[in-house]
Amino acid sequence: MATVNPPAIVILGPGALETARRVQHCYDGARVHALQGRVEGDVAFAELGAHLRALYASGTPIVALCAAGIVIRCVAPLLANKGAEPPVLALAEDGSAVVPLLGGLSGVNVMARAIGDALGIAPAITTSGELRFGTCLLNPPAGYALASLDQGKRFVSDLLAGEPTRVEGGAPWLDDVDLPRDAAARHAIRVSPHAWDGTREQLVIHPRSIVAAVGETRGQLAAKVNTALAAQGYAALALAALLAPASAMSDPAWARAADELGVPLRFVRGTDTAPNALLEACGLPTRFEADGVAFAVADAPIDPQMLGQARGKVSVLGLGPGRTDLLAPAARAALDDATDIVGYATYVDMAGPLRANQRRHATDNREELQRARHAFELAGEGRRVVVVSSGDPGVFAMAAAVLEALEASEDARWHAVELEIIPGISAGLATAALAGAPLGHDFCMLSLSDNLKPWAVIEKRLAHAAQADLVMAFYNPISRARPWQLDRALDIVRRYRTPQTRVVLGRDVGRPAQSLRHTTLGALRAEDVDMRTMVIVGSSTTRGFARSDGGEWVYTPRWYREDALPTNASLA
Ligand code: SAH
Repeated sequence: MATVNPPAIVILGPGALETARRVQHCYDGARVHALQGRVEGDVAFAELGAHLRALYASGTPIVALCAAGIVIRCVAPLLANKGAEPPVLALAEDGSAVVPLLGGLSGVNVMARAIGDALGIAPAITTSGELRFGTCLLNPPAGYALASLDQGKRFVSDLLAGEPTRVEGGAPWLDDVDLPRDAAARHAIRVSPHAWDGTREQLVIHPRSIVAAVGETRGQLAAKVNTALAAQGYAALALAALLAPASAMSDPAWARAADELGVPLRFVRGTDTAPNALLEACGLPTRFEADGVAFAVADAPIDPQMLGQARGKVSVLGLGPGRTDLLAPAARAALDDATDIVGYATYVDMAGPLRANQRRHATDNREELQRARHAFELAGEGRRVVVVSSGDPGVFAMAAAVLEALEASEDARWHAVELEIIPGISAGLATAALAGAPLGHDFCMLSLSDNLKPWAVIEKRLAHAAQADLVMAFYNPISRARPWQLDRALDIVRRYRTPQTRVVLGRDVGRPAQSLRHTTLGALRAEDVDMRTMVIVGSSTTRGFARSDGGEWVYTPRWYREDALPTNASLA
């Protein structure tokens, strides 16, 4: 099968960038992963070994522009389990050699050929079956599954040793393959939904051509399906999908069953939830029924996408302040998996590069509820929607708007959607980390925007927070439409805090234009701040000291005594 995920193209220096970009053009959605501090790519990483192992463990195909030996050493600790092996290739920086290293069964040689074509070089293919037949017989295309890998290997060695073979059943992908064919051969490649009977001379490949439909979950659903298939002599691997009524969408029992069976779960809308009616709604005649499960068997693989719809999903996520290495891996995974990206245009851009088949729904900043509703509309149709915010989605951002839209909706489809909120690193936390630890003691986060709350409420909260000696992180401190509010806010805080109170200003934190300024409450002016600035006003205990590089660390001690420095004992 061709690789499903786009590869990570890993580079260690600027000399590899041009070759990396050429390979990137071959794969929709591929990103260039670049060693931090050495070269700029799409994704930054700090340490090659750890990064390659993380990619490998997550099943991401790897094209590493460095010595083959380095790559092997890096992933070596993970090689014991040969089953789940993404393709790994080493590519010479100058594009003069491409070497498939790992992932023979997940399409590494196909990738090596494609990259070789793009760079105008011959790939260093070393797999004997592949060299002889020009394809890997043990890696059938999407929609087909190999019955037994061990038997498959024996079969291929027999062919390499000179045995001819027949092909039984529909195997269109073998049409152009240079096999030693003989209609009377003892060996046979058999394409069939029927289970392999153990014959050594057969390479059995199952078309995923069977659909199981169940009207209600009772008992061990997956076991029931497998038992019924076995009773009819069919292979479990020939199953293409599990069908269920749309009314069952939120019931986790179905998802578990589909997971156990290793097939997609598809839902059918309509009032008749009898198993054979579910099949009929998808245009499939029932071949047999057993124990409340109806089965259809087609002549060729069935594309599950053509059956009913999937359960849609809305993932509300935070991109962090901007730097890709401050984006949670869970958020990255949701972005990679999404069919639709919804959000303010700047953030949708920040979430990229997206694949051509991922739909962008970039809207204006203020239409938050409308954006949330749009996300549910899309997910109601079975799409996997990501709603992007900067920082954390729950901090003055989309998560609350999404929940507000859902609570107000009576649409059962919206409530059946799978909803997850994935946290991100909020601007306040990112700014604090740059400065040191100004949020090291009790603090509060306040938005100074009076778009959605009366200004009087903001004033009252500011006074209380200032009085309580909380460190304050101001979001939305100022904008063209709200020019005077920051000065008013600072006046209130100045009633309770001295002019010497530490203030940290982070602007475009985690982005290329990042800047950090240290000042005091007395010196702070509204002109120092814009809408891309995070303002952290210290408490009475927030302090600073010189860094060895000439800057300054600002922190708020964990203890609460205005007149004392920590002793070694209290730090222990
Ligand atoms: N959900 C976001 C905040 C959205 S409110 C988060 O958790 O970070 C928008 C405000 O956040 C801006 O007006 C600014 O005050 C602050 N902000 C967002 N990104 C920032 C960044 N990269 N640097 C500094 N401040 C930022």
